[in-house]
Amino acid sequence: GNEFLEKALNREENRDAALRPISFDDFTGQPKTIERLMIMTGASRKRGDVMSHVLLSGPPGLGKTTLAHIIGHVMEKQVVITSGPVIEKPGDLAGMLTNLEEGHILFIDEMHRIPKTVEEYLYSAMEDYRIDIMIDQGPNARSVSLNLPRFTLVGATTRMGLLTAPLRSRFTLQSRLDYYNRGDLVKIVKRSCKLLGVPVKDDGATEIAGRARGTPRIANNLIHFVRDFAEERGDGVITADIAAKALSLLEIDERGLDEMDKRILDVMARHYKGGPVGLGTIAVAVGEERHTLEEVHEPYLIQEGYLQRTPQGRILTAAGWAISGISKAGADQL
Ligand code: ADP
Repeated sequence: GNEFLEKALNREENRDAALRPISFDDFTGQPKTIERLMIMTGASRKRGDVMSHVLLSGPPGLGKTTLAHIIGHVMEKQVVITSGPVIEKPGDLAGMLTNLEEGHILFIDEMHRIPKTVEEYLYSAMEDYRIDIMIDQGPNARSVSLNLPRFTLVGATTRMGLLTAPLRSRFTLQSRLDYYNRGDLVKIVKRSCKLLGVPVKDDGATEIAGRARGTPRIANNLIHFVRDFAEERGDGVITADIAAKALSLLEIDERGLDEMDKRILDVMARHYKGGPVGLGTIAVAVGEERHTLEEVHEPYLIQEGYLQRTPQGRILTAAGWAISGISKAGADQL
């Protein structure tokens, strides 16, 4: 494999782990989800029971994995981590489930990418802690029923709409994480800087928070670059001025829009006169994967009011036109 890449990813992961909140008190924002989870963990603990299944949805980087770890911490149980596309066959699922112990938390990321042939096996596993699998082939083929330890499934998905109704209905709680507001992100930036031992002024934290597109993971990534910038071009302290300069260098504007966001708005204005235009068409025009547009860029552009989704396709709003830098009349003449 690619050793360099692996090391870099590991470093990223360790860095990430250091900044990860480990208790509900430590976790800023998402008040509704936190209250629901505190009620479920609290009651289960008091009854000495296994917590029932939870489904978390929302864009990447908002804290779904972090919450799974916090649940494990509060329940004092191990968290086993996997992801939808990794579970290719029913046997993979059976192997994983039979290795769990009572009360373990199984975190499955990207639930919408679990193959349909595996999904059906998950139903009885979630409902009755039982899984029926076929062993052997041909004339010897037979079904065996395996009893499983009682476990808690914490599922995560960026695409709630792609989950089937029977799967969704097997979760006691379905909770959606929203983009963080500026105040919560400022708190998160300050907390991360403190943990990293990086000196930051209030206005420096506000500047980073404003450009992190409502996402803690992005805020943390920006901190690492701004810190380097502050050490190389300043006296090591993150001020508003330092943060603004550093982030301009990354071509992230004061609204948190990056190069790709702006390219999308620009293409829509120039080539499609503001739409309606299909997402697949936009993806080809800007040279980005459709699912990245769908999961990362589009939700933020919609939430910030630059883009709208209609049955005919995506259209630019007045605010979207303003960012594209040309007017509707100007586009008509192109
Ligand atoms: P997801 O699973 O939704 O993609 P993660 O749980 O991996 O997101 O979160 C990404 C990073 O953002 C984590 O490493 C964590 O440090 C940070 N993070 C997420 N939510 C919060 C929060 N509410 N407070 C502080 N840091 C957070």
